[in-house]
Amino acid sequence: MGKEGKQQGKLDGMDMNFYISGVEILENIGCGICVCSKENKVLFANGKFRVFFNGRIDGERVRRLLSQGLVDGEEGSGKELYIEEDRKWFDVHRTQIRWMDQRLVELYTVYDITETKRYQQRIERQANNDFLTGLYNRMRCEKDLEKQIRLTKGKGGEGALLYMDLDDFKHINDGLGHQYGDVLLKLISNNLRMVPGIESSCYRMGGDEFIIIVTSTRFCMLNSILNDIRDMFEKPWFLKGAEYYCTMSMGIARFPSDGDTVQELIRKADLALLEAKKAGKNRYEFYHAAREGHSFKRLDLEKNMRDATLNACDEFEVYYQPIVDVSKPDNPCMGAEALIRWNSEKLGFISPAEFIPLAEYLGLINPIGDYVLRQACQKCKFWNDSGHPEYKVNVNLSVVQLLQNDMADRVREVLEDTKIAPQNLTLEVTEGLAINDMARMKQILGQIKGLGVRVALDDFGTGYSSLNHIREMPIDVIKIDRCFIEHLGKDEFANVFVKIVCELAAAIGMNVCVEGVEHMLQYEILKKMQIQMIQGFYFGKPMRAEEFEKKYL
Ligand code: C2E
Ligand code: MG
Ligand code: MG
Repeated sequence: MGKEGKQQGKLDGMDMNFYISGVEILENIGCGICVCSKENKVLFANGKFRVFFNGRIDGERVRRLLSQGLVDGEEGSGKELYIEEDRKWFDVHRTQIRWMDQRLVELYTVYDITETKRYQQRIERQANNDFLTGLYNRMRCEKDLEKQIRLTKGKGGEGALLYMDLDDFKHINDGLGHQYGDVLLKLISNNLRMVPGIESSCYRMGGDEFIIIVTSTRFCMLNSILNDIRDMFEKPWFLKGAEYYCTMSMGIARFPSDGDTVQELIRKADLALLEAKKAGKNRYEFYHAAREGHSFKRLDLEKNMRDATLNACDEFEVYYQPIVDVSKPDNPCMGAEALIRWNSEKLGFISPAEFIPLAEYLGLINPIGDYVLRQACQKCKFWNDSGHPEYKVNVNLSVVQLLQNDMADRVREVLEDTKIAPQNLTLEVTEGLAINDMARMKQILGQIKGLGVRVALDDFGTGYSSLNHIREMPIDVIKIDRCFIEHLGKDEFANVFVKIVCELAAAIGMNVCVEGVEHMLQYEILKKMQIQMIQGFYFGKPMRAEEFEKKYL
């Protein structure tokens, strides 16, 4: 009795005050506090708690919300709770205490963590999203891909990884300036996101590279996805007040059949992408295991090309193919086209059709192109000094080279160093670029022509440009592509095409050179059309400089 009486007395006295200030403390504390009975009755809820739950604190609902997901009987069990209607996050902890009447009740302490959670989500978004385009980034791609591979392996089926790279994006970037390159990347990203089936699985890997994951549930849509993406790039993009075409190349690897790790799949899709680039860009290629050996060769190619370029280009050799003047008796040689050859010590002979696209892709075309230009000018100067002052040399320029800001300066430097007469140098450009950025093209070609150098439009008839464009371009020579010559005498269209181009060129004061003449019949037809310049195996294949000099000097 004594002991109990003492306790009782304490409660009646000082502890009553303690109880009152205790409630006061609980009312003003930073977290929500709630006590529930096992019968779902709210025995106590402080002000903060009522605010958190908007006053909706009927026992049943509150206890259900709070206790869901907590482990029964576990002391101090805690969880995160999201209340959809208020868009709020809470941290909830539960402990058992004895209520005033000694029964066991549940004490919940609830902390509002909405701010922290939002901040976390923002950070996560920043870590997962590409700043420029808003697409997911590489990190998120790898995470999602890993998950998709796992899911697909688990439940069977197939998914695909699409690795996309814009063709010649560098031209737009260099030509229009980076801010317009950025605009294009954003436009493309927005359009990608609207392709049904891949709305939430497009990723920007950096630069002009994108990855798209086609999940197993969407795999049946793969064809329509590929068609939609292709259509997207068939239309021009509107930039800086004008229309620009930009194509893309894509490599596709399937999972888990082609690979079941993130690294392996990305590598294989990238190899397929290189195949697509090599096959002429503007297309997609599926990864084929059978080509793996070939693709390894491509990786070797890349390494060896870098090495060869670093080693003063000494594995490269410039060949010369004669261009003859068929308007004169005996069809005299009037010069040559310089054509690069790569005799790799490790890989053997590699044709320019194989390595030039890769050199462009890898950014190695500039040093290689500079090397060819310098060599060709030196040779031509030598021929000019050896009794043929009229001989000219043609050098191919890749569009990547052409769009460098200092291209005209580089040409001037080579002219000065080699002392070749500028009118004896003809730079060949392909028409692919012409339509893309006519203004830029005109400006650069204008600068080059300002040096006294001539310009030829190579492979005419195969690219985008129309006859109408020729008039606008500052060019001296049109080179009609071999594919038309192949059909001369067999196909009326080829005959008419060549004839019309010749007449048109004559009317606007340009010259025509015909490429790929292999047979006498082709030569005779062309002669009747009064073509002046012919280049082809019929007159001479590309040959080493010594051979050319032996024959034509
Ligand atoms: P291209 O500039 O149109 O060069 C003509 C190509 O046609 C050459 O192929 C030449 O060997 C080939 N050819 C010429 N006459 C005939 C013929 O009668 N029949 C057949 N079947 N073919 C003929 P090549 O040397 O393999 O070069 C392929 C392409 O590689 C060139 O096409 C050019 O676009 C590019 N290229 C070559 N050298 C260079 C270079 O130094 N720089 C750049 N950027 N590209 C180059
Ligand atoms: Mg050429
Ligand atoms: Mg050509």
